Amino acid sequence: MNSALLPNYGTPDLEFDHGQGSYLYSSNGQRYLDFAMGIAVNCLGHCHPKLVAALTEQANKVWHTSNLYRIAQSERLAHKLMEHSFADKVFFCNSGAEAVECGFKIIRRYHHSKQQPQRNRIVSMTGAFHGRTLATIAAAANPLHCEGFLVGDAGFDQAESGNIESLRRVVDARTAGIIIEPIQGENGIKVLPVDYLAAVRELCDQQDIVLMFDEVQCGVGRSGSLYAYQQLGVSPDVLASAKGLGGGFPVGACLSIEKLAATMTPGSHGSTFGGNPLAMAVANAVIDEICQPSFLSELASNSEYFRRELALLIESNPQRLKAVTGLGMMIGLNCHIDNTELCSRLQEHKLLVVKAGGNSIRLLPALNIARSELDEALSIISNVLKAW
Ligand code: PLP
Repeated sequence: MNSALLPNYGTPDLEFDHGQGSYLYSSNGQRYLDFAMGIAVNCLGHCHPKLVAALTEQANKVWHTSNLYRIAQSERLAHKLMEHSFADKVFFCNSGAEAVECGFKIIRRYHHSKQQPQRNRIVSMTGAFHGRTLATIAAAANPLHCEGFLVGDAGFDQAESGNIESLRRVVDARTAGIIIEPIQGENGIKVLPVDYLAAVRELCDQQDIVLMFDEVQCGVGRSGSLYAYQQLGVSPDVLASAKGLGGGFPVGACLSIEKLAATMTPGSHGSTFGGNPLAMAVANAVIDEICQPSFLSELASNSEYFRRELALLIESNPQRLKAVTGLGMMIGLNCHIDNTELCSRLQEHKLLVVKAGGNSIRLLPALNIARSELDEALSIISNVLKAW
């Protein structure tokens, strides 16, 4: 049945027919509590009425015109992002990797525009994940993702994540920018220390190095603030956003400060679909919902409750679980038991979670999840651990 697809995803069996809120319903009629949310994408759950309304209303007007013409919805969304973040300018695209690529181009273009084309190298962190395009795999330098694909080093260096001395050793006169996930996602949910990020910011300021944050996974409310950097006390110059931004509709965005954005002159970059009216209609509705004053405060109290309960679960299962990590609703459970096996047993018990590095699992519920649904997940996890 799947033989016409490239084999890169393997052959998963489980298929879903529809979803509502925190639940997905499989084609054979089973209900699953979804703490994967399309890998941190469906931030308002499945088929949120406001997103469905925004999408269908726009679908009845116009779907696509291209960037040859003005798209009012993209200007509206850019203004909202500007209002709620450090950004002066925004570029819209369709995925996380594209948002990161745009950031890489901005970093190099900035130094090029200063007549310093030799400053073109970008430093990433060990354990990073930035996507699957050629530049983003070269940046993250995960051998599993690079094998057979790269020519040369593509202009990237790497420092040990969280280690400022390692970063100082790697940075030289050719360094143009540094890319960091303030909360690493694929590598297990790891929040970078505030003092480390402050030291990186200082280093960048001293040497005119562009600081870029990849908030593709931790952004758009996932960490408990619109962007995670807002809780971590360090503002970037460029930020990649995607995943939750479209609540399930493909959207990416690259946010930038004016000084860098100004170098991206007409014709320097582009995307056929980026900023498309359908995507913009949905993303505007997502941001309107998340930026309501009560939204993030409710998320904070639910997150606190959930993490407290998870900590109790760890206390009663010290042989099986190690620690709870992360911020907001970006939660990692570090395990002693095998994380792949835990994911599949939870799935057998109708709870969907995502595996991550460092023998951990990711719990990524809808940001607007109900307390009762958190309790349901806790009870499934507890039962699975009891039977281990
Ligand atoms: N950056 C981070 C931190 C991510 O977690 C991901 C995807 O998981 C990406 C970039 C790539 O996003 P996409 O798969 O939309 O290209």
